[in-house]
Amino acid sequence: MSARTRALLLALVLPVPAMWLLAGSGRDLLQAGVELSAMTMVGCHLVRRPDLRHAGLLLVAGGVWLTLLGDVYAFVAADFFGAPRDTEVRNGLIVTGYVLLAWGAFLLARRATRAAGRGGWVEAAIFGLGGAAPVMVFLVLPGLQGAIHGSATATVAVYGAALVLLVTVLARFSISESLDATSLVCFGVCGLITLAADFTAALHGAHGRDVVAARALWMLAYVSFAAAVVHPSLRIMLDGEAPTGEYLNPRRRLLLLTTGLLVPSVSLTIGLATGDTDQLWLIAGVAVAVSALVARRMYALVAYIGEQADRLAALARSDELTGLPNRRSWNHELPRACDAAFLAGRPLAVAVLDLDGFKDYNDRYGHQRGDALLRESAAAWSAALAPGEYLARYGGEEFTLFLAGLDAERAADRVEQLRRLVPAPTTASAGVAAWSPGDDPLAVVAAADAALYRAKAYGRDRTVSAALVDTVDTVDSCGTVESTGVPRLAEPA
Ligand code: GH3
Ligand code: MG
Ligand code: MG
Repeated sequence: MSARTRALLLALVLPVPAMWLLAGSGRDLLQAGVELSAMTMVGCHLVRRPDLRHAGLLLVAGGVWLTLLGDVYAFVAADFFGAPRDTEVRNGLIVTGYVLLAWGAFLLARRATRAAGRGGWVEAAIFGLGGAAPVMVFLVLPGLQGAIHGSATATVAVYGAALVLLVTVLARFSISESLDATSLVCFGVCGLITLAADFTAALHGAHGRDVVAARALWMLAYVSFAAAVVHPSLRIMLDGEAPTGEYLNPRRRLLLLTTGLLVPSVSLTIGLATGDTDQLWLIAGVAVAVSALVARRMYALVAYIGEQADRLAALARSDELTGLPNRRSWNHELPRACDAAFLAGRPLAVAVLDLDGFKDYNDRYGHQRGDALLRESAAAWSAALAPGEYLARYGGEEFTLFLAGLDAERAADRVEQLRRLVPAPTTASAGVAAWSPGDDPLAVVAAADAALYRAKAYGRDRTVSAALVDTVDTVDSCGTVESTGVPRLAEPA
C-alpha cells in the first residue's frame, strides 16, 4: 500500500472523534463526508484495477454503497427538508445493501476457498447459525425492530439472515490460514465493527441509528472497508487459498464448532429460565439444524480419519523406492505365513536375494541409476511372483522372499528362476532356507542369509540352499549343490 493511500485512510479516521463535538447537521455532514470519501476511494480503485472486478467484490461494494446512500438520504431528508430520518426509503436502502453485501461476501469467500473441500463451510455455518442466530434473535433484532420504525418484520428478518450469512463468511475466512492477508483482516474488522455498531444501535431501540457511538463505528467500518479494497493483498483472496489439506486452523475450528453447538442450547436454557419464550421455537429450530450439521461434519471427519489411518498404515508398511512391502511388513507377514503353513501341514521356504557388486554399480553410474536398478529388479520380481510368494525389500539391495507350499529343493529352483530376472548385465545371488514346524521364522531368515553369504563367497550369481550348505562344500554357478566334498572355490578367510 502506498504512503499516499495510507495517509488518505488516516485522514479519514482522524476526524471520527469530532462526531462527539459536533451536533445536528454538522455531525451529519462529517459522517457523510467521511463515508463518501471512503467509498469514493473504493470506486476509483475498482475503476483503475479491472483485474479486481470479481462479481463478489462488486456486489459487496454495491451493497456498501447502498447502505451509504441510505444514510445520505436520511441526512438530506432531515437536514434540508425537515423530514424524519427514519424512513422506509432509508431502511429499504440499508437492508438491501446488507443483502447484497452478504451475498457478495459469500461469492468472494467461495471463490477464495474454492480449492478446499466443503468441510470448512459446514463448520462456518455451524458457527454462523448456532453462534450468531441466537444473538441476533435475542439481542440485535428486538432492538432493531424498535429502531427500524414502521418497517415490516420481514425486513428485519432479511436483515438478520444477511448478518448470519456475513458472520458465516467471516468464520469461513477465519479458519483459513493460507488466506491470512491484511486485506482479509480489514474485511473482518469492518464486519466486526458493523456488528458492534448495529448492536450499539439496537441497545438504544427507536433512536439507535442516531446514537453517536454507533455512527462513529459505522464511519470506521467504511474506512476499514476502503482499506480492505485498496490493500494489495486483496489479490490473494481473489487468487484463492493454497490447494492443500492443511490450511484450516484446528484451534479456531474447534472454537467455531464449540460456540455454534453451545450457544443455542444455552440460549434455550436461559429463555426457559427467564420465561422469555417468544423466540424459543426459532432457537429450538436452530439447535436442531446445528446438531444436524455437527453430525454431518462428525461423520465426514470420522471417515476422513479412517482413510488417513489406512493411508498411514500402507505408507508405514511399504518401501518408498520400490513400492514393495518393507521390512516391517515382512516381519509381520512371515510369522503369519509360518503359522498358516503349520496349520495346513505344508512346507515353506525363505530366500534372501542380493544384487551383486551394487556398490560398484552406484560408484560407476551414480545413485540415481542405482535406484532405478533397484526399482527395475523389484518390478521384474514382483511381476513374476506366483500365489503364495511374498517379496519384501529387506534393506539396501537385499530382498527377502517366502515361498509357501515349496520344500527346499523346489524353492531353490524357483528362486533360481527369479534370481535370473535381474536386468542384465547385473547379477544377483540368493540364499534359500527351508522352514520346519517349530523353527523360529527369524532363524530361518538368518539361515537363508548365511546361504547367501556362501553364494557370494563362491563367486556370486548363484543360488545356495542352506539345508545343504552345512553338508557340502561347493555349489555350481546354476545354484545346484554338488556334494563332491572337493571345494571348487575357496571360502573367504
Ligand atoms: P556384493 O556383491 O557383495 O553384494 O557387493 P555389493 O556392492 O552389492 O554390496 P555392499 O553391501 O558392499 O554395498 C551395497 C550398496 O548398496 C552400498 C549402498 O550404498 C547401496 N545402497 C543401499 N541402499 C541403496 C539405495 O536405496 N539406493 C542406492 N542407489 N544404493 C543403495
Ligand atoms: Mg550386494
Ligand atoms: Mg547387501
